[in-house]
Amino acid sequence: MKKVVIIRYCEIHLKGKNKGYFERLLGDNIKHALKDLDFKCVKIPARYLIEDFSEDDLDEIVSRLQKVSGIHSISVAILVPSEKEIIYQTALDLCKDKVGTFKVDTNRADKRFPVHSVDLSRELGGLILSKYAKNLSVKIKNPDFCVNIDIRESGDTLIFTDVIKCMGGMPVGGGGKGLLLLSGGIDSPVAGYMMAKRGMKLKALHFHSYPYTSDQAKEKVIDLAKKLSLYAGDIELYVVSVTKIQEAIHENCSEELMITMLRRFMMRIAERLANSIGAQAIITGESLGQVASQTIESLTTSNAVIENIPVLRPLIAFDKLDIIAIAEKIDTFETSILPYEDCCTVFLPKFPAIKPRLDKVEKEEQNLNVDQLINEAFTNIEKFHV
Ligand code: ATP
Ligand code: MG
Repeated sequence: MKKVVIIRYCEIHLKGKNKGYFERLLGDNIKHALKDLDFKCVKIPARYLIEDFSEDDLDEIVSRLQKVSGIHSISVAILVPSEKEIIYQTALDLCKDKVGTFKVDTNRADKRFPVHSVDLSRELGGLILSKYAKNLSVKIKNPDFCVNIDIRESGDTLIFTDVIKCMGGMPVGGGGKGLLLLSGGIDSPVAGYMMAKRGMKLKALHFHSYPYTSDQAKEKVIDLAKKLSLYAGDIELYVVSVTKIQEAIHENCSEELMITMLRRFMMRIAERLANSIGAQAIITGESLGQVASQTIESLTTSNAVIENIPVLRPLIAFDKLDIIAIAEKIDTFETSILPYEDCCTVFLPKFPAIKPRLDKVEKEEQNLNVDQLINEAFTNIEKFHV
């Protein structure tokens, strides 16, 4: 008798010829998430099993698997030889501290097993009921818990009662590569999480304005990338200074367009970096109407500099409170609200343009040497592996 963890996935089952590829990718990501622990990862039909781990690591394994994109749910199960007496005794032990309604659900993949599934469920249900009549009663529809008996073709049986819901989504790496514009705020880590959940491998780009922004602000973004990497896998984080660009805009352009123009620079730098590191999309945490730089006019103006790459904005239709709820769930919120300056808040105009006009912005930009400023920004790019 030993404990194993059953791993279930969901959307991968909808794949046709590519199913094997996504299953293998998920297997690789599971092994990567647990790489410093002792365990065996075994593929069984439509599931993975984690076996041969130390019981001391069980909580850690469960916690890490909940953050692996593509896993729909897991169960900690007892694996026993497929012998009726052992199965019954194990199931009875599992119900020892349970209270409420239950049913027994049997899956007999091994047709050599002498008792039919319906008969086994009925017989075992009766035994459980007679032993724990004080605390338990049977309910076939929507019981509080289910005693699952999975009699496998391999000659052993998995027995479990609890199902732990996991992240869902698709395995990271199966959905291309995206460059996440990662600020120190609440939204962008959530945007990264959501794209990782759809299988996108992340690289990240952060803009700072040293000395106007502090080293702590940069450290904060590295911390956020680390938290995100628990879900998204390893992340390469690039850090680019936009100090000179902001100073140039401040000195030469209309004050109300400061943010609009800075965002156009950010987009240009992002597209150029994405092309050079093989990222196929830019990801931002923008949400329609959240601030002046996220009105449809502002989004149009900053998007206009993009030449040939999709800009994904997974939060575009999200309310702030819903974004915060996800930030809390993925544990980035507390870091995001640490009060360090972001480059967007440096030289913040009193009245930023809410509906910037593209022709006006393009005209203002003629006061700047755009290419030279961008080339300069690339000369001091920093790279971190988190
Ligand atoms: P957030 O809180 O997401 O991180 P925000 O609500 O502060 O964003 P903005 O400052 O307008 O909104 O930024 C919108 C998006 O632009 C961010 O979600 C992020 O993707 C990108 N962005 C903003 N500032 C930076 C920065 N310093 N470095 C990298 N990306 C940034
Ligand atoms: Mg921000």
